[in-house]
Amino acid sequence: MKTKKLAGIKAIGLDVDGTLYKMPTKLSAIMGMKVIKWAAEKLGRDEDEFAQEYLERRDNYRSNTLTLNSYGLNGEEIFQKVGDEFPLDQFLGRDEKLVILINNLKRKYQLFIITNGTGRQVEKKLKVLGLNYHDFEPRIYCYDQGWIKPEPAPFLAAIEALQLRPEAMVYVGDREDVDVEGAKSVGMKAVLVGGTSRLADQSVVDIYHLRDIFLT
Ligand SMILES: [Mg+2]
Repeated sequence: MKTKKLAGIKAIGLDVDGTLYKMPTKLSAIMGMKVIKWAAEKLGRDEDEFAQEYLERRDNYRSNTLTLNSYGLNGEEIFQKVGDEFPLDQFLGRDEKLVILINNLKRKYQLFIITNGTGRQVEKKLKVLGLNYHDFEPRIYCYDQGWIKPEPAPFLAAIEALQLRPEAMVYVGDREDVDVEGAKSVGMKAVLVGGTSRLADQSVVDIYHLRDIFLT
């Protein structure tokens, strides 16, 4: 994929899930089933019947959290519960290539994190991947603040914390509707990972290709 440098960037913001690591299909499916089971139980619904309805509704919302909220449930809380019970290190491990990339990026740029999820869970994932969460500042964990991307609030909070012009900041994520749209809505630049986006300033096949944009 052809990439060109993004000019004048001082800070690089990163999404975590699907961006720093690819969610293994098996893990994603197991987590999805657990969430549905939990919600069906809570609502006193038949699990199979509920699952079918839930998945249709999720196609519209494009978010598990928002779908759960639409049933009057607390999506953030359910994800936290399911995530806390999950043996993450059975599915994820240290990623040496990612560790090297982050070490190189942090010498040239301020790195920060904006992610849906809670600090407790995200910091656990970073550790499993071999990263040190202190390398990222600020770390904005949307669920701890009652936010959800693509709301502008977490992006504005990063601008405020770093006191940079948004054009000097780029946000990197794996979802156009959540990550790219959120960043662009406040004037930040955006890179999409794992797909192509016309709205993004750059698209790359995976996180490792950030090297071509920011380190060459
Ligand atoms: Mg993501």
